[in-house]
Amino acid sequence: MSKIARRKFIQLSAVAAAGVLVQPGRSAQAGDMPKLSEDDPMAMGMKYTHDASTVDPASRANSAEVQNCANCALVQGEDQGGWLQCQIFPGKLVNAKGWCSVWAPKS
Ligand code: SF4
Repeated sequence: MSKIARRKFIQLSAVAAAGVLVQPGRSAQAGDMPKLSEDDPMAMGMKYTHDASTVDPASRANSAEVQNCANCALVQGEDQGGWLQCQIFPGKLVNAKGWCSVWAPKS
């Protein structure tokens, strides 16, 4: 496993574990979910932004058009007016044009 892949795996594992601990048993309906704030400590830890085009190109392999929440493998459910559910941020909606450091391509 490459150094970058291992780091991403560790990040995903830690975030997934935190999500389970923070909201055990939560099964929120998409309609009642708040939007994730960029100031949320977990969002800041994952370098989440509502606008992928603002991300430093040096911190990612591809452009905003190629890496954003709308085409991330960790998205769940349907688009809700430009906002999506994400496995990394349970109980909150992320912007379809957003991005975070654990973006992963859909297979
Ligand atoms: Fe967006 Fe994917 Fe990061 Fe979730 S994991 S915030 S969908 S880039």
